[in-house]
Amino acid sequence: MSSGATGERALEWLEISADYRCNNRCIGCFSVQPDGPSMSSREIAEHLLAARRRGARSLWLGGGEPTLRRDLLAVVRKARELGYVRVLLQTNGMLLAYADQAKRCAEAGVTEVSFAIKGATAETHDRLVRTPGCHALLVEGIGHVRGLGLPMSGDLLVYASNLAEVPDMVRTYAAMGLRHFNVWAFSAVDQGDRDLSAQVPRLSEVARVTAEAADACPEVSVTSLHTPPCVMPPSHERCLFHAADLDLLVANPGGYSFRLEESAIEGGAYLPRCAGCGARPRCGGLRRDYLAIHGDEEFQPR
Ligand code: SF4
Repeated sequence: MSSGATGERALEWLEISADYRCNNRCIGCFSVQPDGPSMSSREIAEHLLAARRRGARSLWLGGGEPTLRRDLLAVVRKARELGYVRVLLQTNGMLLAYADQAKRCAEAGVTEVSFAIKGATAETHDRLVRTPGCHALLVEGIGHVRGLGLPMSGDLLVYASNLAEVPDMVRTYAAMGLRHFNVWAFSAVDQGDRDLSAQVPRLSEVARVTAEAADACPEVSVTSLHTPPCVMPPSHERCLFHAADLDLLVANPGGYSFRLEESAIEGGAYLPRCAGCGARPRCGGLRRDYLAIHGDEEFQPR
C-alpha cells in the first residue's frame, strides 16, 4: 500500500524513541545513554505530523524511558489533537507509582500502557533491571493504571536466566489485569566489549515457554517476537508475531527512522535451506548475532 504522492508505504503505527535516558540499568540494554542523542519537542511534532500524513493513527511512545521526558504530556496531547486514536505508553512503570502522574497521562490522552517486565518476582526483576525497589514501584504503577481503566500489556524481556519464569510472569501479571504479553528475546548485539552471549536464550526455548504460558493463561494473548515459525509448535501459531503486519515506523533520535521489519533486531538473515520453507513468507529471518552464538540447527524448513 502506498500513500499518495510520496509513494511511501502507508503506516498504522509510529514508534517514537525520543532519547535513551532511563532510570533502570537493565542487563545488556544498549539504550542507556544519558548524554546520547535526544529529539527536541519540535522534532517529535514533525514526526507526528509526517506519520499522520502517511495514515498513522497509533502512536507508541518508547525509549529510553518516556515518562522521564518533560514534554511527555504535551506530546500526548499533540498526538491526540492530530488525530492519533491510540497512544501506547511503553514504560518500566516506576514513575506511574505516583498516582497523580498516572492520572495526568490518562487525562492527556494515553489510551494504553505496556509495562517492561523482567521477572515474576521482585528478586528476579530487580536483579535484571539492576534497580533495587523497581518491582515494588512497577506493581504500584500497574495498580494505578488499572484503577484508571486503561488496557495494559506486558513486554517480557527474556534472558537465559529468566526464561523458565515466563509462564509465571504471564500468570502473575495477568492476575494484576494485563491482557496481552509480548515475549522479547534478549539480543547481545551492540554490547561493545561486554560478552553477554551466555544470556541469549535459545529461540526454540523461547517458543516453548511462550506456548506454555499461552496454555497456562488462555484468557490473555501471548506472542513471541523475533521467533521464526519453524521453532514454534504448530499448535501455537497464534503466538507468532510478524513485524510487517504492524505497519510500524520507528523514529529514533539523530534522524534515524526505519520500518520495524527492517530492523536488525528482527532478524533478516536466512539459511540456504530457508528457500524451501513453506513458512518463509511470514518469517522475518534470523539475527546474525544469534546464529554466531547458537548456530542454526534449530531452524528446519516446514
Ligand atoms: S524461513 Fe528458515 S528460519 Fe524462517 S521459518 Fe523457515 S526454516 Fe525457519
